Amino acid sequence: MISVNQPEIVKLNPCTGEPLATYAMASEEEIAQAVRQAHVAQVEWKKVSLKTRARLLEKVLQLCFQRSHMLAEMVSLETGKPLADALESDVAITLSALRYYADIGPAKLRPRLLANDIISLTTGRKHWETYHPRGVIGIISPWNYPLAIPASGITTALMAGNAVILKPSEQAPATGQLLVRLFKEGLQDLGFSPHLVSLLQGDGNTGIALLQQDLDGVIFTGSAAVGRKVRLALAERGIWSSMELGGSDAMLILPECDLEKAASYAIWGRFTNTGQACAGVKRLLVPEKDKLTLLQHLQDKISHLKVGPPDRSEHHIGPIISEQQLGMLDDQVRDAVNLGAKLWTGGQRLPGAGWFYAPTLLSDVPKQARVLREEVFGPVLPVITYQDVDEAIEQINCSEYGLTTSVFGPVAMARSIAPMLECGTVVINDVGPSNYAMVGAPCGGWKSSGNGVSHGEPALLELSQSQVVSENRLYEWPLFGKPMWHFGRNSHMLSERSKTVLAFSARHASLWNPIRWLPFWQNRMNTRL
Ligand code: NAD
Repeated sequence: MISVNQPEIVKLNPCTGEPLATYAMASEEEIAQAVRQAHVAQVEWKKVSLKTRARLLEKVLQLCFQRSHMLAEMVSLETGKPLADALESDVAITLSALRYYADIGPAKLRPRLLANDIISLTTGRKHWETYHPRGVIGIISPWNYPLAIPASGITTALMAGNAVILKPSEQAPATGQLLVRLFKEGLQDLGFSPHLVSLLQGDGNTGIALLQQDLDGVIFTGSAAVGRKVRLALAERGIWSSMELGGSDAMLILPECDLEKAASYAIWGRFTNTGQACAGVKRLLVPEKDKLTLLQHLQDKISHLKVGPPDRSEHHIGPIISEQQLGMLDDQVRDAVNLGAKLWTGGQRLPGAGWFYAPTLLSDVPKQARVLREEVFGPVLPVITYQDVDEAIEQINCSEYGLTTSVFGPVAMARSIAPMLECGTVVINDVGPSNYAMVGAPCGGWKSSGNGVSHGEPALLELSQSQVVSENRLYEWPLFGKPMWHFGRNSHMLSERSKTVLAFSARHASLWNPIRWLPFWQNRMNTRL
């Protein structure tokens, strides 16, 4: 496989194990140069109007749309996922993200007037919040959605006025290269510096070298183990980072649920992208009384799944990304079986070329099994049971991860459970992987699943630095002396005014008293800067 210190990446085809292509890894000097050039380009880019930034996104959107099939074919070739999956879960999400940020970016990043009470310590002030780019953002991305994930990071970073250096996964170098090429094409077409978006090919060591550069922020998406190291390295130097890390997402089937329908969702939620989705269904909880019926539905549905390379359209599941990942997956399954889990189907590597693993169904999995404690990145579905819903919630929350939880069953009950779940997203009557397609929804994890978000308005604001400008409008009034808290005021007057200020600050008034609503009306009127 790819050795750490070699100057080249040899990308292997996961369907055959044969080399696909070779890529030169970026040298230390190339990394430093890309960052230097990015800083220079960003100084100009941050002066560009929000509308023009949005226009760039529109341009790239057009270019990506025209090359949708080329992009999907690249993703499919490097990861082995079916072409339809690449089109939907990578290309379509990329297009949606470009569309979304081009649409909301200008309005969201415009200066925003802030509320101020008419009578308060800061009477007479007008203040507003402005958004400034962070500078040069390093993006280190994984291979499982090798287009959608870096595309969304680049899009938000550029819209917020930053420059970007992308280090794609060593398992998807060509996809990263093509994506950056399209952004550069868009920049050049509109007359901006191509150095605003740069690509550095390489592995973990290249990532480490990039982190040592003069960056202003990092978006890291990858495993929790690597994410922890990255965060630590950046925190030492006070560099902002957003961490989108692994998960062990649960799907909870409530009592009185349509088991056949829930099983269909579970099958897609677990086996899409060959089980290599951060928010995939990695643990399935079902009431003890429904266990057998559900397992029979699952087993029946798994028997219809076809595993193989993406060149045949009837294949639902592709290969595992690498021999090493396949070995790790197999170890996790063996561990569960050795501890007494029941293997319903699968549990082995498929014969022949490439790294294919049979879709696997496990039940009666003991709590200490690795498949329940660790992230399982492959087509393996462990089913566990519960007696009552409180116990199920406890089992879900006992994981160190907290990315997404899906809850299936009566909507009212599912909604009441949502606040008790320790995770970034709760999906009711659908599964986690589909959630990433909602580009307006902030996607992030709790606990070991990361901090910060991708997508939604918060992702755009995270890539900006907020600045408040606060203007004392009484300063220029000839009749106004000095603010009440300045030295040398009459102490009687001070105490009288303080009383008023305290009363207004707390707004100790009934709902019918206009004082209570003063700030509300004031804010309603103050909509313009
Ligand atoms: P990984 O952690 O092995 O690698 C991710 C990236 O980090 C790669 O580009 C790699 O070259 C780089 N890297 C490796 N070591 C590094 C280091 N020490 N310093 C800097 N960079 C380093 O993850 P992966 O195998 O590529 O991706 C799969 C993981 O990503 C899974 O855990 C999955 O759950 C997670 N993931 C999370 C999300 C999310 O949104 N939360 C989305 C997709 C994938």
